[in-house]
Amino acid sequence: MRLSRVIMRTKRPAVFIDRDGTISEEVGYINHPSRFRLFPYSAEAIKILNDNGWLAILITNQAGVARGYFSEDVIISVHDQLKRDLQDGSAQLDAVYYCVHHPSVGEPPYRLDCGCRKPKPGLIVRAAKDFEIDLTASWVAGDRYSDVELARNAGLHSAFVLSGYGRGEWEYQRESWKHRPDIVSENLLEAVKMIVGSPHSANEASS
Ligand SMILES: [Mg+2]
Ligand SMILES: [Zn+2]
Repeated sequence: MRLSRVIMRTKRPAVFIDRDGTISEEVGYINHPSRFRLFPYSAEAIKILNDNGWLAILITNQAGVARGYFSEDVIISVHDQLKRDLQDGSAQLDAVYYCVHHPSVGEPPYRLDCGCRKPKPGLIVRAAKDFEIDLTASWVAGDRYSDVELARNAGLHSAFVLSGYGRGEWEYQRESWKHRPDIVSENLLEAVKMIVGSPHSANEASS
């Protein structure tokens, strides 16, 4: 038994977390770090993942680059701000992945029908190359139906949060959804509590 526990520990489950509307307020395009507003509960949510052996990985579409609204440098500055805000709550992301492309708007190299624009699974595929991830035990958390589709496309569980666009999409649009999220929660913190405590979770990761 001991050996099997050691083997299972090499792969960790991850929560792939959407940015705008999920970990931070949905304020439209964040074209300057001063517009970034971390939700007050996000550091606590990420710390729960940190403390329980889960990988916390941010994945975000930032097509504002392809649209010419801001440069990639702005995304990096915003994510530096995000990391500092989380550090204030003793929490940290394991990685951040973003897509800067748009299939039909802007100029190359950003105008691109890429494989990383959510709900395509490219960002998750990239993360799975960089980390030993137990994908079958992993989740996507997001405030748009496209995040549910992303989870479906990558073979992960999905947590739909009612922050950001979530409540509106849930109340007015879910009738037209092809797929249902595995859980629906008020916000990221509630989602993380459900995920870490769920039967889907790989408890071996933290033992
Ligand atoms: Mg979002
Ligand atoms: Zn892309």
